[in-house]
Amino acid sequence: MEIKQTQNEVKQLMKVVNGKHRFPYPNIMSVLKAYEEMGELTQLIIESTVKSRKGGKLKIDDIKGEIGDELADLFIVILGLANDYDIQLEEHIRKKMKKHLERWTKVE
Ligand SMILES: [Mg+2]
Repeated sequence: MEIKQTQNEVKQLMKVVNGKHRFPYPNIMSVLKAYEEMGELTQLIIESTVKSRKGGKLKIDDIKGEIGDELADLFIVILGLANDYDIQLEEHIRKKMKKHLERWTKVE
């Protein structure tokens, strides 16, 4: 999967979504949605690390699918935001990864 291709698919998806809902401030709604998805992901990780709402810790193997779904939700929102600002996210990811690699290869 290429990020660029997925970003284009998200653009098509958002055309469908925006055709059904008219948000007055779509970029702000996307940021809020990202927080919502991050919250859902955080909740799962907390419940697998510390304690679930039902008591005890959730087993990672039991919630791996849910974690994957929340990561996917978050990534879709992020790609949508990149589209809103006409940003090719793949280029930025590659640039930032190169920068991080250079920085961390210097660290002893
Ligand atoms: Mg979600």
